[in-house]
This record gives sequence, structure tokens and C-alpha cells, in this order.
Amino acid sequence: MQVALENCPALVLNADFRPLSYFPLSLWSWQDTIKAVFLERVNVVSEYEREIRSPRQAVRLPSVISLKEFAPVARRPAFTRFNVFLRDRFTCQYCGQRFPTHELTFDHVVPRSKGGRTTWHNVVTACGACNLKKGSRLPRQAGMPLIREPMEPTSPMLQEFGRAFPPNYLHESWRDFLYWDSELDPW
Ligand SMILES: [Zn+2]
Repeated sequence: MQVALENCPALVLNADFRPLSYFPLSLWSWQDTIKAVFLERVNVVSEYEREIRSPRQAVRLPSVISLKEFAPVARRPAFTRFNVFLRDRFTCQYCGQRFPTHELTFDHVVPRSKGGRTTWHNVVTACGACNLKKGSRLPRQAGMPLIREPMEPTSPMLQEFGRAFPPNYLHESWRDFLYWDSELDPW
């Protein structure tokens, strides 16, 4: 059975990949979404299986879209899993390989057991194997130098990196997105 069209809203992200609003969550109807896609005001981040058909073509309904122009809200990029992965371009910062999100994890460069904090400057994207191999050692002790020093990204930087990934690479759905976008607890 086909999913009803009214059950296919799109999650709307600002150009920095944060939802335009959380409360209420920024959702657009499929009609508004399709219109914005054709007017080229948004990028499609992820799609539903569900299609709509015109005599000429079939179009998959977007499930997550991001605005091309940043809607001004004075804020720095949120410190979330998704944004850390995006900053590191879904690449393990130890072995340099790219992985899908579900195969990635975080690594504390200075391990928490040695006083390392959960911040932009101490958290990097790592694959499971490298994370395990490094354990609770410093990169130097483990003989695993970082590809790049972690830093706090700017919104335009994340926007730029996000454009490099095709739809559905980033998320299966917006429920998924909300999970990945949950704020990390800095301490
Ligand atoms: Zn790795």
C-alpha cells in the first residue's frame, strides 16, 4: 500500500543543516516542498520512496530539504554528531577512509579518562576499527596521527561540505536526522 501524501512532509533545514525550528519542528507539506525544489530554493538532502507522477515524469518526494540561502539566525553551528561528521566529511580522521554514518563513531583525541573534554577541539570522526585500536591512548602513544587538527567549523563551511554529498547519503529519513542532530553534551 502506498503511503498517503499527507504523511510525507519534509523536514526543513537551514543552510547550516539545523532544522529551521525545533518547537514546533519545521515541516513543510509535500506541495510546498515540491514547489520550492522546482524554484531551486532548496537542496534535497534525502527522499522518501514515495513518488508523485505527472504525465512526463515521476519525482520522489523529498523527506529532508535544506535552504540554499541561510535564513539569518545569529548562531554558531550546533555541536552535534551530524555536524562533527560533516566537518570531517564522513572521513575517519585516523585512517582517512570515508564511511556511511552508521559505521562511524566519535573519538576523543585526548581520552576522557585523561581529562579530554567533549568539544569541537577534542572530538573527531573515527571508524570503529580505528576507535578500538586507539583505545584510551593519545594519538602519539598509539602511533596514529590525526589527518587534520579538529576545530570549530563555521556555518558556510558546513554548508559547502554538505553540498558535496548526494541525497540519501546523509540520512535515511528525517527521524534519522533528528537522532544524528541531537546535541552532544559538552563537559
Ligand atoms: Zn579509521
